[in-house]
Amino acid sequence: MRKRIVFLPGDGVGEEVSRGAMKVLRHVAEEYELEIESREFAIGGACLDKHGIPVQEETIAACKNADAVFLGAVGGPEWDKNPAELRPEIALLRLRKELALFTNLRPVKVFSPLAGASSLKPEYVQGVDLLVVRELTGGIYFGQPKFTESIDNGERAVDTMAYSTPEIERIARVAFEAAMKRRKKVTSVDKANILVTSRLWRKTVTRIAEDYPHVELEHLLVDNCAMQLVKNPRQFDVILTGNMFGDVLSDEASMLTGSLGMLPSASLGTGVGLYEPVHGSAPDIAGKNIANPLAAIASVALMFHYSFNMENAAQTIEKAIEKVLKVGFRTADLTMNGHESVSTSEMTDEVIRKIDAQKNDSAAQNLSAGNGKVYWLLETMSLETS
Ligand code: NAD
Repeated sequence: MRKRIVFLPGDGVGEEVSRGAMKVLRHVAEEYELEIESREFAIGGACLDKHGIPVQEETIAACKNADAVFLGAVGGPEWDKNPAELRPEIALLRLRKELALFTNLRPVKVFSPLAGASSLKPEYVQGVDLLVVRELTGGIYFGQPKFTESIDNGERAVDTMAYSTPEIERIARVAFEAAMKRRKKVTSVDKANILVTSRLWRKTVTRIAEDYPHVELEHLLVDNCAMQLVKNPRQFDVILTGNMFGDVLSDEASMLTGSLGMLPSASLGTGVGLYEPVHGSAPDIAGKNIANPLAAIASVALMFHYSFNMENAAQTIEKAIEKVLKVGFRTADLTMNGHESVSTSEMTDEVIRKIDAQKNDSAAQNLSAGNGKVYWLLETMSLETS
């Protein structure tokens, strides 16, 4: 078997953790006799420096023709003063839209050896295993009009939040299908007491829930959800929400795991999938070889799972991550009580050592999330985003 992968390291620590993730990807691919054909492109700030634009058309075309895309992170203070159309983040929004990646899955799982690394007490985070299903191509990040204008006493800026019934229906189905394979509970998060988009969201999700009688549905206002995530995070199974709320809540949820450097993500549509750590380019620690590569490496596991349907390979990576943590390896973001830390590259190499150590293990079991059906569902859905 052969797979074409587009590799977009991006900026700051994105570049550093991507190298580790690709190393793990190649290693596991070899073990499972998967031939990898990869192409690398600059994106975000790196692309602005090289080509004067955040993303090249050639890159978009290559992504559309790939079997999967891996992205590190984009952005950094060097480009913060750029005009809106020349900001690194434009590359990411463009990719999401062009690849019609309307689903963003962010699994938040607390590995037991890391329960003490969270800023919450271990007894609150132990056992947390939730999935954030975030709508990714609609809402306020994409709504039009979007502009800044001059007014008498300064400037005025406008963003538009819009959602349509089909957009809500398809992401709701993804969440319910995922819940069917998990603990059968969906928490839909909105701001229905204030926003009309949220009222449509709530009405539509409630209607779709009728097709899933075995799944419990609850609605939470986003402010309450933010509070419940730190008060009692174990109550959540699948959190279904829109683009902006999902962005914020998943960063908050990452702290349950101990670090933003632990959270992987998969962005799926009806074609190629894009895999990236949830974190950004972390300019404060970039270039020091101290970033945590585990979110990026776990994103490779999601790639094997969702894009290549290779459950055993995905499990091999997940188990290796769990083992390195169990034996005590920690990057600086996860250290506590004066523990020594390892570098980005050392952590990557430890994961590879643990993968090798598993070679003769019995066949891995299916991923607990078991979301193959979700991907099948995505394939049957329309590509259109309104
Ligand atoms: P960030 O995620 O880059 O960093 C937030 C905090 O988490 C920082 O303290 C950082 O050191 C830490 N952190 C992040 N990743 C880590 C890792 N792998 N290991 C250890 N610690 C890690 O968010 P930010 O500082 O708000 O944004 C920095 C830049 O990244 C901005 O330009 C922003 O636009 C961009 N950004 C990009 C993406 C993306 O590419 N998907 C996502 C978020 C932010």
